[in-house]
Amino acid sequence: MTDPVPDGGPVLRLEAVRKTFGDGQVVLRDVGLSVPEHSVTALIGASGSGKSTLLRCVNLLEPIDDGAVFLDGAEITDPRVDEDAVRRRIGVVFQAYNLFPHLTVLENVTLAPRRVHGVPRAEAEERALELLDRLGLAAKAGAYPDRLSGGQQQRVAIVRALATGPRLLLLDEITAALDPELVGEVLAVVRDLKERGMTMLLATHEMGFAREVADQVCFLDGGVVLEQGPPERVFGAPTEERTRRFLSRVV
Ligand code: ADP
Ligand code: MG
Repeated sequence: MTDPVPDGGPVLRLEAVRKTFGDGQVVLRDVGLSVPEHSVTALIGASGSGKSTLLRCVNLLEPIDDGAVFLDGAEITDPRVDEDAVRRRIGVVFQAYNLFPHLTVLENVTLAPRRVHGVPRAEAEERALELLDRLGLAAKAGAYPDRLSGGQQQRVAIVRALATGPRLLLLDEITAALDPELVGEVLAVVRDLKERGMTMLLATHEMGFAREVADQVCFLDGGVVLEQGPPERVFGAPTEERTRRFLSRVV
């Protein structure tokens, strides 16, 4: 992990973010949230509430219509910003693991450090093997993705996101595509990253996991963060009727 926050402020901050799609649909209306350093924020909300869109806006995969996003206090939604430089500081893992099938595990993990960051091969491989080892995947370094279980592939995708030493990790429903018996090993990795102080923003429908791992839970509804707070509060004593209704359906 690199560059400490200059002013001790949050690693990530969204200010009145508005996002519409071409058909005029407003997905994010007025979204504000802060993710402090070394903390985990869980985004919850019904399917279609905009969790993935929010993460994609943070990673600059989607342009926003209004508002601003700040990384370490600097506005990254400023049109003059170097988008690739921003993305290099943010690791992302999606629901589908998206590993390159024709590359080995080690090649998948070292691709971005070598190609995007210009890290020499030996150095990239050393760091990749260290990370793979930490996640119990050292023996798989030479294997192709189709030889791995879904849980192992998703763990490789996490290693790949970590290989560039990101400042912030975005995780979008990373267990949603997994067989139930493989969910635990992936969640264990997130737990481990939290213990190591990784700053994370994750979208999840695993309420039990959100409750356990998150420092802060944000409930997205109708394009806004309708309710946010520590998990004990949001899950234990939600103040909004809509949060109560959502939780009664999913928990
Ligand atoms: P969630 O991740 O919470 O399920 P999404 O962010 O995927 O929600 O979607 C929020 C809304 O935005 C949905 O109504 C979805 O159909 C719409 N949406 C997402 N991506 C696009 C897109 N590229 N073009 C048009 N509409 C989109
Ligand atoms: Mg989604």
